[in-house]
Order: sequence, then C-alpha cells, then structure tokens
Amino acid sequence: AQTDHYDVIVIGAGPSGSVAASLLHQQGKRVLVIEKQHFPRFSIGESLLPCCMQVIEEANMLEAVNQAGYQFKNGAAFNANGRSTYFDFTDKFTPGPGTTFQVERGDFDKLLADTAESQGVEIRYGQHVDAVDLSQQPRLTISDEQGQSYTLSADYLLDASGFGRVLPRLLDLERPSNLPSRTAIFTHIQDNIDSVDMGDYQFDRNKILISVHPDNRDIWYWLIPFSNGRCSLGVVGEPHLLGENADLEATNLETTVLEATLMRLVREEPRLKQLLSRAEIVRPPAKLEGYSANVSTLANDKFALLGNAGEFLDPVFSSGVTIAMQSASFAAKCVVRQLNGQAVDWQAEYAQPLMRGVDTFRTYVQAWYDGRFQDVIFYQDPNPKIKQMICSILAGYAWDESNPFVAESERRLNMVVELCR
Ligand code: FAD
Repeated sequence: AQTDHYDVIVIGAGPSGSVAASLLHQQGKRVLVIEKQHFPRFSIGESLLPCCMQVIEEANMLEAVNQAGYQFKNGAAFNANGRSTYFDFTDKFTPGPGTTFQVERGDFDKLLADTAESQGVEIRYGQHVDAVDLSQQPRLTISDEQGQSYTLSADYLLDASGFGRVLPRLLDLERPSNLPSRTAIFTHIQDNIDSVDMGDYQFDRNKILISVHPDNRDIWYWLIPFSNGRCSLGVVGEPHLLGENADLEATNLETTVLEATLMRLVREEPRLKQLLSRAEIVRPPAKLEGYSANVSTLANDKFALLGNAGEFLDPVFSSGVTIAMQSASFAAKCVVRQLNGQAVDWQAEYAQPLMRGVDTFRTYVQAWYDGRFQDVIFYQDPNPKIKQMICSILAGYAWDESNPFVAESERRLNMVVELCR
C-alpha cells in the first residue's frame, strides 16, 4: 500500500536527519523520518561552525535559524596558563559564511525538524527502529509507544540516529575508533559573568572559549555562551585523568559526583575559576564516555550513515553538527541520482568525499592531544596568511582542497609546528 512504502526513510530527526529529509523532499522524493523521542529533547553539541550555515541555506532553513534569537558566534577563543588567543572566523582563507550561532540543541533541533515538516516532510515521533532487513528492498521494523510493531519499506535508508547508531549496531558495522576513549562531563549554568570583575580580561560571548588545564594539556574545557545568560560548560579528558571524586562515590548520587568533579576541575583552571565564580548550575551534570566511534562501511546502494551514526571523532573543534549536515548534503545528492535511475558509486561519490573533511579534522584533533596543534594555536606571533588558513579549518571548511592545510594537512601542520617551537 502507498502508506507502507517510501522513497527514503530517515532514522532520527537530529540535524543530519532533518536536513537530509528537507533536501530530498525538495527534489520531489517521498520521505519519512522516524524519531524515537519527542522534541524538544536535550542533546549535547551546542556550538556550530560557520561552514554548516551553507547547508542550512541549501535546506531553505536559513531564515528560520537567523530569526530564532540564538547567540551570535564569530570565532573561538583559547586560554591556557593565563595566555589567551582567539580566531575571528570572518578573517579566514576559504570563502563562505564567517559567522554562526551557539544553540541549545533541544530548541535548535526542534526548529530544524519543524521547518522540515512545514516544508512537507513527514516526521513520526515516539517511534523506535528495532530491526532492519536488507535481503531485498530495505525494510524496517518499528515499534510505537504502545509497543505495537509494524514494518515499512523504502527504496533507500538514511541512518541519522547519532549516538543511537541504529544500522551500525543492527548490521554489525561498528569498529573501534583509533582515538583513545575520553570522557566528557557537562552541564548548563546561569553564568552571571557580567557581575564578575575580570580586570583587563574581556569575556567575549560571541566566541566559544576553550581552556586547557594548567598541569595537563590532555584535559580541556568548553564554555559556550547562549543568548539567555546561560552557558554550556564541559570538561573532557581520559577517564583516569578526570579523577572522579571517589570520596563521593559512596553517596551513590551520580550527579553529586559529577558536579563535584566538574567544579573541582573548573577551580583548577585559574581563569575559569574566576570567570565562573558566580555561576549557578541549572541542569544536572551528565557524563558521556567513549563517544568516539567508527564503522566498517559508510554506505552502499541500500543505505548510508549520516553524521554521528557514521564516524565520530572528538568534540574539541565543535565539528560534529557541521560533519552531520555536510554528510546529509552529500548523501541527498547521491540518493536523488540513484532514485532517478543513475548509477551511484557510494564509496567514490559519498564515503570518500565525506571522509576528506573528517580526515582533515582528525589530523588536527590528534595534533591537539599530542600538543602540536596547541603550540600553533597559542603561538603569539602568527603569520597572518597561515592563521587565515587555520582559521578556515576551525570555521569548519575542512573540505576546501585549495587550502594547503586541508590538502596536505599533516605536512603543513608540521611545518608550522617547527616555526612555533
Ligand atoms: P543526533 O543529533 O544525535 O540525532 C540523532 C537522533 O536520532 C536523535 O534525535 C535520536 O533520538 C534519534 N534516534 C536514535 N536512535 C533511534 C532509533 N532506534 N529509532 C529512531 N530514532 C532514533 N558538535 C558540534 O557541532 N558542536 C559542539 O560544540 C559539539 N560538542 C560536543 C560535545 C560532546 C561531549 C560530544 C560527545 C559531542 C559534541 N558534538 C558537538 C557532536 C554533536 O553532538 C553531534 O555530532 C551531532 O549531534 C550529530 O548530529 P546527528 O544528526 O548525527 O545526530
């Protein structure tokens, strides 16, 4: 029956799912999105990169996003041992948007999904994808909130389930990440920063602030201001380095332990300690562990993995939503061509182009943790042209092959590291 079959079924209504569904619908495809939760729902990943504004525009969602009142963002500030440095994303090598937003994801993801719906995309909430059968035409077994199970078929499946990783789990595609397992502890705060006397230091709400632990460069913090006087605050490190307050373990109150650990680590970084001296926690702290993930296959002629359902690297450069949206844009073009009867080489036309950008970020993530990229970022007298090229990557333009720091990322980075050391 007509209602049981779709051109494309998208699993998950996060940024990659909503954008992919919108792009496919605009090409006249019959799309259904299956989302297990009800929106708004909390998600981590609140600092966007300017590069993703291009995909938001492609999906005809730019006006909605621009009018939503989100915190304007024009760059990234870094802080270590009293040294500060910042990157202005409008002063970059690659053409394209130089500004973006910092968003509470519950609200942002709902806005994208509602906008897709208003464009004509069908979204079913509270529906959980339980099983997949690819032996013939792709079929999904889905359960609703009453526990009723039903099946749907589609010509093509897009897995946008993020950390749900639906198809990697069901099809045994999961592979370990080559990055060490790290833990993030995070919360939302009423920051009250305006009422703190910071002397000469100017806190810039238009930039994400990344701080490095004074004694251990492997530990870093994010502070992402929102437009409502609140910030997202988090700390990242290998689990043994964060040293969760064991004395509190006995209380068996997970959030108490996390709050104590997070605030102890904040007090260990002098600038953050001062900046957040009047902050109040407004959301119970939470923890994510071992979030870096990889897969054996990103796509074939029956399915493609988008965003976090594919590979997830690391949060340090806020690249997650940008990669998720970029993957949606790349995949939608391939799906349309395949549904229109053209042959698509999913490896060459989807997986490889997507991985170019992911691999660029990987170079800089690895170099952040081994210290090379931190030396470059905190170098006090950078060459302006080189800084613009690096700024492009920090702004998300990791697919721009005309940027030498993309095309030959490892070699170029090492050359600059030599100059800085
Ligand atoms: P998601 O946004 O995770 O959406 C997936 C959707 O699928 C969810 O709504 C979920 O309910 C649904 N789903 C799951 N399972 C099922 C199922 N079985 N059936 C139906 N639906 C299902 N990124 C940034 O860009 N900026 C940042 O500052 C940033 N900070 C981060 C900090 C940390 C600590 C971590 C771990 C990540 C961070 N990220 C950041 C990454 C970011 O969270 C993700 O990359 C981004 O949310 C991926 O979007 P997505 O569309 O792939 O998936």
